[in-house]
Amino acid sequence: MGDPKGFLKVKRQAMQYRPVCERVKDYKEVIAPVWASHSKDQASRCMDCGTPFCHWGCPVGNYIPEWNDAVFTGKWQKAIDLLHAANNLPEITGRICPSLCEYACVLGINDDPVTIRENELAIIEHAFKAGFIKPRPPKIRTKKKVAVIGSGPAGLACADQLNKAGHNVIVFEKDDLPGGIMRYGIPDFKLKKSILDRRINIFKKEGMVFKLNSSVNIKPKGFDAIVLAGGCRVPRDLNIPGRDLKGIYFAMDYLTQSNMRVRGEKIADKDLIDAKSKSVVVIGGGDTGSDCVGTANRQGAKCVVQIELLPQPSTCRPPNMPWPKYPLLLKTSSSHEEGADRKWSVNTKEFAGENGRVRKLMCVSGDNEFEIGVDLVILAMGFLHPEKTGMIKELDIQLDNRGNIRTDDNYMTPQKGIFAAGDMRRGQSLIVWAISEGRCAAYCVDKYLMGSSGLPIL
Ligand SMILES: Cc1cc2nc3c(=O)[nH]c(=O)nc-3n(C[C@H](O)[C@H](O)[C@H](O)COP(=O)(O)OP(=O)(O)OC[C@H]3O[C@@H](n4cnc5c(N)ncnc54)[C@H](O)[C@@H]3O)c2cc1C
Ligand code: SF4
Repeated sequence: MGDPKGFLKVKRQAMQYRPVCERVKDYKEVIAPVWASHSKDQASRCMDCGTPFCHWGCPVGNYIPEWNDAVFTGKWQKAIDLLHAANNLPEITGRICPSLCEYACVLGINDDPVTIRENELAIIEHAFKAGFIKPRPPKIRTKKKVAVIGSGPAGLACADQLNKAGHNVIVFEKDDLPGGIMRYGIPDFKLKKSILDRRINIFKKEGMVFKLNSSVNIKPKGFDAIVLAGGCRVPRDLNIPGRDLKGIYFAMDYLTQSNMRVRGEKIADKDLIDAKSKSVVVIGGGDTGSDCVGTANRQGAKCVVQIELLPQPSTCRPPNMPWPKYPLLLKTSSSHEEGADRKWSVNTKEFAGENGRVRKLMCVSGDNEFEIGVDLVILAMGFLHPEKTGMIKELDIQLDNRGNIRTDDNYMTPQKGIFAAGDMRRGQSLIVWAISEGRCAAYCVDKYLMGSSGLPIL
């Protein structure tokens, strides 16, 4: 809980970012380091509210008041133990979770909420620096073998929990490195990949086995349970006249390639998607679009416009989304601060081109028709459902009416012993929800294998 009167003495001081003029020239993380003394002050604002709605607001049920108290009193080992009790990847959520908890913080009713996400990041980074985080393989191994398919946050959280329970876990990943969207979608300036590797190395030392470059399309043999955690990656398209012009790409294709280039891979000229000296339009006003804005600015775009079909959200809580709900608000990300012309309520009617390349977007907003000159268009309008071919087709997996994997309340598909978790089951969501799904699925798998489970339900 921190200091019961701390919130009266200390104002919220949110995470600091590197100056725009500096950070836009590189792909290093935009956040500035968090100092322990600063976190201690901020943790003191947690006020012993009695019913911690932040805990309810966080999809993994993080023990927020408890670890805030531990930070305030300098008990960092206790803080990391509490943090790890609910979250397998706090160094990731501490960087890029949209802090659902902070919108439910009781102090947020009439003051600025506690800096919960930053305190989470301070705990985990302090714990790594102090050497508290060491591989802890399970003392006893069961004879059960579990295949986890997909190494995004859902797959990793699920595999970590099952490994802790002593099962022999093999994670199959079709990419050359683990991490899912955390590695190939999210840019380094939001999440440097060494952070991911640091955790994956611990998982390996604890006995988790990774089979990379392994696209699973038939039922893997010899496993007592299988968890499908392949994500939700079919992008929403914009089927309007001119869609077949060159220069129009899906966000994940653009971001994946950029992430590969940042780690030093060469892309053949004919396949290169590069914003240098181009007028770029990002269609889609969400987080994926924001990552494309930040990437285009770093690549040296001439200008970046981001357009969204929906009206501009409110900057303060609308009456239909009262506290402690997570409200739909206008978000200005660090990428937006680096430069983007954001337009709302814009419907794109047509792409027009010259010599087969896109040159213009014909748009309408209300009664107003207008054009935007463009050399590169990035489509970032969300994702529909998982790939229905491959794993889903061959394993004959049933889908729900949104096209995601159907399971019962125990995360099990109608096929005995085959479970699902993360975006593949829930639909496109957030990292913290994927972790929560992975943990819940692990509990259900453990119970299925052993009759009961000592794993936490969340
Ligand atoms: C560009 C972008 C930015 C985002 N930014 C944020 C953010 O800042 N904060 C946030 O909370 N959320 C963010 N999200 C959402 C978040 O990344 C996802 O909700 C989360 O990654 C879903 O986790 P997952 O494990 O279910 O799936 P994924 O991360 O998609 O992982 C699925 C994995 O399964 C593998 N796979 C699929 N099929 C097979 C197969 N047949 N065999 C083997 N492997 C297979 C894939 O290669 C992939 O590695 C972002 C999403 C995108 C697209
Ligand atoms: S994981 Fe997200 S919602 Fe949960 S405590 Fe951390 S920042 Fe808040």
